[in-house]
Amino acid sequence: MKNYDKIIFELSKPGRKGYSLPKDKYETEGLKSIPTDLLREKPADLPEVSELDVVRHYTNLSNKNFGVDTGFYPLGSCTMKYNPKINEELCSLPSFTSLHPLQDEESVQGALELYWNLQRMLSEIAGLEEFTLNPYAGAHGELTGLMVMKKYHESRGDHKRKKVIVPDSAHGTNPASAMVAGFDVVEVKSKPNGSIDVEDLKPLLDDTVAGIMMTNPNTLGMFETEITDIAKLVHEAGGLLYYDGANLNPLLGKVRPGDMGFDIMHINLHKTFSTPHGGGGPGSGPVGVASHLVQYLPNPRVVKDEKGKFHIEGNNNEALGNISGFLGNFGVMMRAYAYILSLGKEHIKDVGPLATLNANYIKENLKDDYLLPIEGVCKHEFVFDGLKDKSTEVTTLNVAKRLLDYGFHAPTIYFPLLFHESMMIEPTETESKDTLDSFINVMHEIAREARETPELVKNAPNNTIVRKLDETTAAKNPILTYKALKEQEA
Ligand SMILES: *Cc1c(COP(=O)(O)O)cnc(C)c1O
Repeated sequence: MKNYDKIIFELSKPGRKGYSLPKDKYETEGLKSIPTDLLREKPADLPEVSELDVVRHYTNLSNKNFGVDTGFYPLGSCTMKYNPKINEELCSLPSFTSLHPLQDEESVQGALELYWNLQRMLSEIAGLEEFTLNPYAGAHGELTGLMVMKKYHESRGDHKRKKVIVPDSAHGTNPASAMVAGFDVVEVKSKPNGSIDVEDLKPLLDDTVAGIMMTNPNTLGMFETEITDIAKLVHEAGGLLYYDGANLNPLLGKVRPGDMGFDIMHINLHKTFSTPHGGGGPGSGPVGVASHLVQYLPNPRVVKDEKGKFHIEGNNNEALGNISGFLGNFGVMMRAYAYILSLGKEHIKDVGPLATLNANYIKENLKDDYLLPIEGVCKHEFVFDGLKDKSTEVTTLNVAKRLLDYGFHAPTIYFPLLFHESMMIEPTETESKDTLDSFINVMHEIAREARETPELVKNAPNNTIVRKLDETTAAKNPILTYKALKEQEA
C-alpha cells in the first residue's frame, strides 16, 4: 500500500525543472534587487518536477474525483443539482473577474447593481423584506440570522429570551449556530410522521423563548402542514421563527417562507441556486428578514439612491457589524443571478414539482427492498431506514460503499438521527428518468447481493481508486502538504 501511495504522490526527482528563466536577468541581477534580509537562506523544499509531470499529475487526480459532472449525486439535504455551464461563462467575463473589492464605488456600479438585483429577487422568492448576501455559507447565515434575532430582543430590553427551540430532526448546524450565538438549545420532538409535535412544543413556549429554527419541508422531506399554527403560537409567545433554507428547492416560486410566518431565513445559493459546491466551498448563505428586522442586518449594505446610483453603506448604527470580508462571495452570487435569470419567473416554479416527482419516483420504486419509515408523498427528498431485510446484517454504510462500485455517489447516511440506518436520498430536478432508472436498478441489485452474497456488499468498495478509508487516522494524522509527507517519511 505504501509503495502504491508513492507511485501516485512522489514524482519529485532532484534537478528536474518545469521552467527556465534567463540566467542573467533573474538569477544575478534579479537577486540583487531583493533586500538581503528577505532572501531565503536555502531553496524552498518544493517537488522538482517537469511541466509534463505536473499536467499529468493534476489531470489524473481530476479523473479520480467524483462530482455532479461525472455522475449521479443523490446526497440528501445537499441539493447536488447540475451547475449550468452558462453560469460559469457569465461569471468568467473579465469585467467581473478583474474587479477589486477596494475599488471606488463609482467604478463598480454594475457589480453593485447585480448584488442589489439579486437581493430583490431573493426577497421576492422568500417573501421577506430585505436580504444581505454577505454570509459565506448556510451555517454562517444561521449565525448571522440568530445574531439578528438576539439584537431584536435585546433592543426591546427583553433580556430573558435565551432559549432557541430546535426539532430533533434538525441539521447539526442549527443547534451549533444557536450555541455559538449565545443561546441555550431546547429540543422539540417529532411525531411518528416526522413533523413537529405541536403538543410537545406548547409547554416550551414561555417568555424565555427567543425563537424556533425549522426547515420546511423538514429533514425527512415532509411538508409541515401545521406551520401557520406553529408560527402563531411562537409569535404569541414573543419568539421569532428562523427558516433553514437548505430545503427551499421544492418550494421555489410556489410557497414563500415569509408567507408561512417566518421572520428570518438563510438561503444556500450553492444548493437551491445551482452554484458548485463540495469539498468545503465556496458557498454563499444570504440572510433575509421581515420588515421589523431590517435595521439589524449586518454592514456593509448595498443601497440604491433616488438617482438610481448604488452605494456601499457601512454606517447603520443598529446593524450588526461586518460578518464577512467586504460583501461576501461575489463569484457565487453571479452564478446564482445567472441561474435565476435563465429560468425566469415562468420556469423557476417548475423546479420544485420536478424535484418532488423524481424523489417520489425513486421512493416508490425502492420501498419493496428498503425500509420506508414514513409513508406518503414526500417533497424533494426522503429517508429510508436501511434495507428492509435486516437479517443479512448489511448496513446503510455497506450499501453506500457498494453504490460507489457502481459509479454513483452515496446518499447522505446516518442523518437525520431519528433512525438507526438513515439513508437520505435527494435526486434533484436535473436528473433524467434514465438516470433515476439506473439508480433504482442498482439499488435493487445491491439488495439482491445483500441477500445472496452479503460479503461482497460488506467489503465494498471493491473497485474504486481507494478502498475503505481509515477515517480515524485520516482525521488524526492528515498528510495534506508535501512537507508533511516528507516529515512523515523521515
Ligand atoms: C446544508 C445544510 C445546512 C448548512 O449549510 P452550509 O451551506 O453547508 O453551511 C443547514 N441545514 C441543512 C438542513 C442543510 O442541508
